[in-house]
Amino acid sequence: MYMKIIDISLSLNNQTPVYPGNVPLAVSIHHAIPEHATQLSSITMGSHTGTHVDAPAHAVVGASALDKIPLENFVGPCRVLDFSLEVGDSVTKEMLQSKNIKRGERVLLKTKNSLRSFKEFYDDYVYLSGDGAEYLASLSSLAVGIDALSIKQRGSSDHRPHTALLSKNIPIIEGLNLTSVSEGEYQLFCLPLNFTGIDGAPARAILIQNE
Ligand SMILES: [Zn+2]
Repeated sequence: MYMKIIDISLSLNNQTPVYPGNVPLAVSIHHAIPEHATQLSSITMGSHTGTHVDAPAHAVVGASALDKIPLENFVGPCRVLDFSLEVGDSVTKEMLQSKNIKRGERVLLKTKNSLRSFKEFYDDYVYLSGDGAEYLASLSSLAVGIDALSIKQRGSSDHRPHTALLSKNIPIIEGLNLTSVSEGEYQLFCLPLNFTGIDGAPARAILIQNE
């Protein structure tokens, strides 16, 4: 059976940009013994590096760690909503309302971030507005993804893009690369690494195109 897989995760290497203040990603050869046919690498990274999942514990004191979020949130039907031609700096409640989002959908927000390069960090990335986050929380979305390293505006004191979703145990997927994805329905597979007791972790995320 033909199956089209679209990789929507960012490449991880020493050039991968990280959100300012986060631990730089560093990959190096830890140990190489050619005569034993062995090579091992050392990887140093923050929990919010590249394409990654935010768990409730990231923004809500005492809330669930990543390993308490059911994998069902991350696997199954999802909708990509394309806002990449919008001129504003955020995805607003009104823009979301125009897309007839159903209760309990997984939604990925494509913005003009995906039309820029992911090779460097820029401050003026498109984010989800506080009202938009509250709207998706009211719809009990199973997961909310965005093509920015943070779903929240940099430096903003409006924390709702994180807190409205995470306080309802709705995981957030950040750092998606939706450049080659058009609006529509897909199957999402986004599996964060199985760290326990942690606020988030990198994930490999793919979409499978519905026939
Ligand atoms: Zn994050």
